[in-house]
Amino acid sequence: MDFRLTDEQTALRESVRDFAREVVAPVIAEHYEKHTFPYEVIRQMGKMGLFGLPFAEEHGGMGGDYFALCLALEELARVDSSVAITLEAAVSLGAMPIYRFGSDEQKATWLPKLLSGEALAGFGLTEPGTGSDAAGTQTRAVLEGDQWVINGSKAFITNSGTDITTLVTVTAVTGTNPDGSKELSTIIVPTGTPGFTVAPGYSKVGWTASDTHELTFDNCRVPAANLLGERGRGFAQFLRILDEGRIAIAALAVGLAQGCVDESIKYAKEREAFGRPIGANQAIQFKIADMELKAHTARLAYYDAAARMLAGEPFKRQAAIAKLHASTIAVDNAREATQIHGGYGFMNEYPVARFWRDSKILEIGEGTSEVQRMIIARDLGL
Ligand SMILES: Cc1cc2nc3c(=O)[nH]c(=O)nc-3n(C[C@H](O)[C@H](O)[C@H](O)COP(=O)(O)OP(=O)(O)OC[C@H]3O[C@@H](n4cnc5c(N)ncnc54)[C@H](O)[C@@H]3O)c2cc1C
Repeated sequence: MDFRLTDEQTALRESVRDFAREVVAPVIAEHYEKHTFPYEVIRQMGKMGLFGLPFAEEHGGMGGDYFALCLALEELARVDSSVAITLEAAVSLGAMPIYRFGSDEQKATWLPKLLSGEALAGFGLTEPGTGSDAAGTQTRAVLEGDQWVINGSKAFITNSGTDITTLVTVTAVTGTNPDGSKELSTIIVPTGTPGFTVAPGYSKVGWTASDTHELTFDNCRVPAANLLGERGRGFAQFLRILDEGRIAIAALAVGLAQGCVDESIKYAKEREAFGRPIGANQAIQFKIADMELKAHTARLAYYDAAARMLAGEPFKRQAAIAKLHASTIAVDNAREATQIHGGYGFMNEYPVARFWRDSKILEIGEGTSEVQRMIIARDLGL
């Protein structure tokens, strides 16, 4: 067992770390404040190859693996989570379904621009009336001749309304299975298709420089060939995508937790109270030591889940453990980092205020903490 990074992995981590500090950090607070999408940062991330990291070169990818994506996400989130979630959603939710389940033609049509970061795709699973219980999907798609006619709506869909969004994969009920359950399938809906409406962006507590919209489909017609993979495989497809995605979200959460440590060390050395730096107090030192401990153990949990996935072993439980643990400790670290910053921690100009606002969603998105516990318990045979 060896958790040390290879030279290549170390180089990737360092180049993303430098990029986050030199390119993201100087501009992100303004985007966050104004709720604007950082197109220029995303363009540069595309040039670095980050959107193609886990994909084969034959499709325009970088020939790396999912762990490489996780390392990049951790380093980005150490500075900013809006940029990190944009990459996570673009790769693991946006491009990955087409890469894993798409036909040769669908891959050739969509992947080159998605993998270069010139285009983004959304993953439309959640609906206004159902999130955790995805089997409750109400959106319907009916095959009429050689077209799917889609009706319904989707909620909270990341990367679905940017100027460079080219498509959304939509989970819809396409029939009834022999056992009476809903037949779910996934359909590619290109941006701009008549009947597909993107609502204005949500007003969010955190991730304010990322793009999230409600989507409506009103007799929206797409070619029958836009079916992704086999009809009726929608459920299995999104379970696979979400299992992997949990490792990526865990990496993002570890990055935020580590960013809280970075900022707290800096502040504890600068800020003086009672005639000495606050970091001279053991109470503050212990807080920071605990924060480091949590970031470290959560990192090991996502490394383990990623290693199992890449080895082709079962990883569902380990991915759920990593996501549950990393999101919990990210919230803990954000709370403690804010505490260490005192009143300044409550001011938006300090990165820890952003970390605090960005941390909570990690316990909700891509499966809530309760859902992770359900997955773990089920995998234990309960
Ligand atoms: C900023 C943002 C971005 C997002 N991006 C996307 C995206 O790109 N694509 C996408 O498809 N979705 C996306 N989502 C949706 C997200 O995945 C869902 O919000 C999440 O899965 C929870 O679903 P819900 O909001 O419907 O909550 P609900 O399912 O209604 O749950 C409400 C509460 O009840 C609890 N609960 C539900 N069932 C049980 C149970 N059986 N036992 C115990 N507790 C239970 C939940 O854990 C939660 O605490 C995004 C959400 C946000 C906020």
